[in-house]
Amino acid sequence: EVRVRFAPSPTGHLHIGGARSALFNYLYAKSQGGKFVIRIEDTDQARNVEDATEKLMESMKWLGIEWDESMDIGGPHEPYRSMERLDTYEKHLQQLLDEGKAYYDYMTEADLEKEREAQLAKGEAPKYSGRDRDLTPEQQKAYEDEGLKPVVRFKVPQGRHVVVEDAVRGNVTFETDGIGDFVIARRDRIPTYNFAVVIDDYLMEISHVIRGEEHLSNAPRQALLFEAFGWEKPTFAHASLILNPDRQKMSKRDESIIQFVEQYKDLGYLPEALVNFLALLGWSPVGEEELFDLKELEKQFTLDRVSKAPAVFDKDKLAWMNNQYVKKADVDRLTVLALPHLQKAGRVAENPSKEEYEWITQLVALYQEQMHYAAELVELTDLFFKEEISYNEEAQAVLSGETVPEVLKQFSKELDELDTFEPQEIKSAIKATQKATGQKGKNLFMPIRIAVTGQAHGPDLPNTIALLGKETVQKRLEQAVH
Ligand code: GLU
Repeated sequence: EVRVRFAPSPTGHLHIGGARSALFNYLYAKSQGGKFVIRIEDTDQARNVEDATEKLMESMKWLGIEWDESMDIGGPHEPYRSMERLDTYEKHLQQLLDEGKAYYDYMTEADLEKEREAQLAKGEAPKYSGRDRDLTPEQQKAYEDEGLKPVVRFKVPQGRHVVVEDAVRGNVTFETDGIGDFVIARRDRIPTYNFAVVIDDYLMEISHVIRGEEHLSNAPRQALLFEAFGWEKPTFAHASLILNPDRQKMSKRDESIIQFVEQYKDLGYLPEALVNFLALLGWSPVGEEELFDLKELEKQFTLDRVSKAPAVFDKDKLAWMNNQYVKKADVDRLTVLALPHLQKAGRVAENPSKEEYEWITQLVALYQEQMHYAAELVELTDLFFKEEISYNEEAQAVLSGETVPEVLKQFSKELDELDTFEPQEIKSAIKATQKATGQKGKNLFMPIRIAVTGQAHGPDLPNTIALLGKETVQKRLEQAVH
């Protein structure tokens, strides 16, 4: 049976890299009829952030990712949080100590630092020297008597290879000589990630460990621990790194892209678009089609189409993709997403009246084709909220055309005669202006558009004029001819 897991540490919001791992695991489970487990790995307590677990789960729910076992819904392998599994780790830790496969290391932080510096000075890669590997019970006692608290280290077998079977990379071989005896429990005896993850993946019967390439270097350590316990290893699958648009490795401080799922949600991106985009970061479907909803991805996803070549985070593509989904979305849904942004910009009331809400909905509908994400509506619709617009050079050039004043004056007159200010009537007013002035096409539409919006391009003109309202439009027509 396929059993996969997403095992975030609760150190902050859901990062796009983490979201991709969660998604690949989810898709693989779905495609195989397997189970998807969420486990919270919080033994590195100094890095834990309050509320992070709830935030991570919220972001995953928002993306539409569902799971079969977790802290919140339970499951056959409870508990699903490392800090509640300490007894289990302790038992296994003791087993390795008893079997001589792990040992106490009494070196202080200062000792270790000195050792590191000496190695670096000699141009060597820092690696624990193994000083305390073979302490006698007397030596141990002496350290204990000094009041030193040891860490527990795993005795890495020397002079060997360890093979990590990876569904993306094939067999990856590591020399154990390059791996120092690593810490599996800290001085307070709480296990490190590399130890807890192995115990949990084994006991939770995880068949495939799917995660990002940044964990590939942990894999041989974990593989050695599986071997030390005599357990069968899971299949690993390390998806490629995600690079920022400059093809640099992403760092949390990187400002060239938005990094957290919650931020996309706040900006009014649609979860189905983000999921689609993340799926294509390091996985490719058969064929040319790029737009897939979650259900479709569940059918198409296979591990053998996950790539080991770095995936570049193309934010223009994400914007394009989100626009594809925006165009198809229900306008009421988009209005709900856009409203808080218009409110924050002081454009609409905190409690809009029914009419005002209706107007906002129409504004959203007007820009639905163009809008990449909901928050963008604020800048796109700037011209609707300005007392006065300014005409740039290009606009002024158009407005200074010889036939322009006549067109604008005539159009203003036609508008005055309208009973209501509906797009259909406005269209007729434009027609009537054409008839009366003899101007048509560009000579007709361009001056009107520029006069009332200040822009040479924009959405449907009669609709735009209708939403601007008679008063504003008349004022701008007046402004443009003077
Ligand atoms: N807790 C690890 C992290 O958040 C999980 C790594 C893994 O999937 O093994 O990076």
